[in-house]
Amino acid sequence: MFNSLPQPKPDAIIALMAEYAADPRDTKVDLGVGVYKDDEGRTPVMRAVRKAEERLHAAQTTKTYTKLTGDPAFVKAMQELGLGQATDRMAGAAAPGGTGALRVLFELVSRAKPDAKFHISNPSWPSHEGMLNNMGLSVSKYDYFDAETCGVRFDDMLAYVNGLGADDIVVLHGCCHNPTGANLTDAQWAQLTESAIANGWTPLVDLAYQGMGDGLEEDVTGMRHMASKVQRMMVAQSCSKNFGLYRDRAGCATVICPDVDETKLVQATLASVNRMLYSFAPDHGAALAEIILNDPELRADWEAELTEMRERINGLRDGLAEALRQATNSDRFDFIKEHRGMFSRLGVTPEQVKAMRDEAGIYMVQDSRMNIAGLTEEDLPAFARAAAAAGA
Ligand code: PMP
Repeated sequence: MFNSLPQPKPDAIIALMAEYAADPRDTKVDLGVGVYKDDEGRTPVMRAVRKAEERLHAAQTTKTYTKLTGDPAFVKAMQELGLGQATDRMAGAAAPGGTGALRVLFELVSRAKPDAKFHISNPSWPSHEGMLNNMGLSVSKYDYFDAETCGVRFDDMLAYVNGLGADDIVVLHGCCHNPTGANLTDAQWAQLTESAIANGWTPLVDLAYQGMGDGLEEDVTGMRHMASKVQRMMVAQSCSKNFGLYRDRAGCATVICPDVDETKLVQATLASVNRMLYSFAPDHGAALAEIILNDPELRADWEAELTEMRERINGLRDGLAEALRQATNSDRFDFIKEHRGMFSRLGVTPEQVKAMRDEAGIYMVQDSRMNIAGLTEEDLPAFARAAAAAGA
């Protein structure tokens, strides 16, 4: 039976990781996979996570099941982190990472409105389209990235969402857009909020990088404004990047509802959705995040380390833009300084991406998305020279 399975399409980033591993050059640079790296190329266990793990080890007396929607203390702490508060208009569930949270929310929407239409940015994180297609749900793309300016085509985006209505779900990146690095301003969030209210579409915010852009609060100002105004909104949070908990799979799905009755119905449905998908969400990573968020000392240390990570990325952004200015004699790469988050699209052709890989061992995704955190200060001149040599 299984021998007739269609061969699954290889994941481009996973394939790139394998190519990188097989490359014998010691000067090679991996800018493919989206994990944070320090200036020695390591993806560290964060200090606060290590301490929280020690505390959990000492204090945990059972591994029995949590609730179907996870530990309420974790959900509350995540809502406070993302949305600034946890209210009785918010239903929430722990989930296996940000991906799990998105999957649960997609499922919730499809139960409520089987013919709902999802709209994602063009381009977006590939799993958005992949997961929605996999579930047989309708997905279209709104204009987002301007390849010329490397900024957001906001007028086109706004015109698109202004044409939507009550059956439509608009997936927005809360901050640090993946793959482009181009983000909405707070004023643009406010305009989108007005559009959602006037036209009745529902926002679903994917928040996978809070704290990796300009700061824990700064990164969510726009999203929080929207949350404070609209009747309904969904948020999928990931603890993978900002807590470095990638493999422990910690995430949280939140649904803001118009009233307490609808919130209770959604809460019960989230439990039922979880039960059908995987029963109980993993708790280890969630417990660590909850300990850190609720302990002033650990929280301060976590915030300090997150700040170091963010400043390293933003310092590399400045350095890379400057190196490219010198190597190419043009300011066309200055947008890298304005972008935020782990990624930017360099804006070069697939042939130029390949040339940089073949000639200089620089591994970027074919669409020229690069993980800025994969660079070190020492890599910058060579990167810029390789880009110039490839004709960028
Ligand atoms: N959304 C976006 C935009 C992402 O980039 C990621 C991570 N690559 C996720 C969600 C989910 O991450 P995870 O499932 O590892 O928490």
